Amino acid sequence: MIGYKTLAVPGPTNMPFEIRQAMDVALEDHRAPDFPDFTKPLLNDLKGIFRTETGHVFLFPGSGTGGWEAAIGNCLSPRDTVLTSSFGQFSGLWVDMCNRFNLNVMNYDMDWGEGVPLDLYRRRLEADKHHEIKAVLACHNETATGVTSDIAGLRKVLDDLGHPALLFVDGVSSIGSLEFRMDDWGVDIAVSGSQKGFMMPTGLTIIGVSEKAMAACAKATTPRCYFDFAGMAKMNAQGYFPYTPPATLLRGLRAAVDMLNNEGMDNVHARHNRLAGGVRAAVDAWGLRNCARRPELYSDTVTAILVSPGTDANDIISIAYNRYGVSLGGGLGKVAGKVFRVGHLGWLNEAMVLQALGGVELAMRDCGIAFTAGSGVGAAIEHYTDTRIALPLAAE
Ligand SMILES: *Cc1c(COP(=O)(O)O)cnc(C)c1O
Repeated sequence: MIGYKTLAVPGPTNMPFEIRQAMDVALEDHRAPDFPDFTKPLLNDLKGIFRTETGHVFLFPGSGTGGWEAAIGNCLSPRDTVLTSSFGQFSGLWVDMCNRFNLNVMNYDMDWGEGVPLDLYRRRLEADKHHEIKAVLACHNETATGVTSDIAGLRKVLDDLGHPALLFVDGVSSIGSLEFRMDDWGVDIAVSGSQKGFMMPTGLTIIGVSEKAMAACAKATTPRCYFDFAGMAKMNAQGYFPYTPPATLLRGLRAAVDMLNNEGMDNVHARHNRLAGGVRAAVDAWGLRNCARRPELYSDTVTAILVSPGTDANDIISIAYNRYGVSLGGGLGKVAGKVFRVGHLGWLNEAMVLQALGGVELAMRDCGIAFTAGSGVGAAIEHYTDTRIALPLAAE
């Protein structure tokens, strides 16, 4: 293929040149006396991204899925009760993992396109007078359906009821892109990975752990070794790791954290909201529907677009890739063939979104789908024009 491929999946995301360059370094001695000079500020600055002062942020070689396992392995014991909900591939897989760890899983199986059911959680927690529920799980941003759930609202439910359960949040496709406030929201476990909002290669589990979760580790009896928080905390306090850290990735992560902080997290969130607005405008213009059921659930990092009955979304995806080098996200699980997804997170600007939307239009045309060529791209341009004012120029 001539020219760039367009990476419009919701992770891995586009990797900035600064991050690539930061990783183009010789391998280094992770036991060197000056290694902590690098690691300590990095771990500290990550806490800023998670918006926690009281918690820890740990880095394990792994991915988001490893973070789910670390949460369960460290904080819970077999047969502990957990309150969960599944409404997409990722929320569902974490629930599946809970079952494999022999937890007592109370799951709400929701329609795909819905989010964390706060009212149902409230009822169940209210009925739990003896506090059998040890952890409440929530997928902040369901990447399969493009649904963002209300974690602040979930914290309020727990607080209203005075329920002491730990709050475990999957923030793999939200942290670093969407507003995420670990301390303010009383999040005990915040799971992320390197290849989405952090704009990095896959390979790091990035996990926020509250003091309350650390205390729970001491009592929990599930065996843990590689993902042991206590061992990690002990070594991190000295600026080291219990085993060989992926130091090259940590160099990239340093650059990623600097980029996010230079932009400012509030600006990062605003940019994601604005870019997402263009994608949503395109979906409307094409006469298609967002898989997320209601506007308040619409994700600013990924949009899952429902195709009309009779269309196979996989045809759009394969033509986009094979003819135009545009990678779109596929429909996972229950929505396979019914949706295609456009990722709009990470290192991204308006023109990059328009490129992806243009690729979608080319592929939809080739599939014989009826719509006015340029209507989606045009609607996105209108949106970016209307919301331009407060934003700095790209060259700045
Ligand atoms: C990508 C993703 C995961 C899985 O993370 P891996 O890094 O692929 O292990 C989990 N949850 C959500 C919401 C995701 O988007």
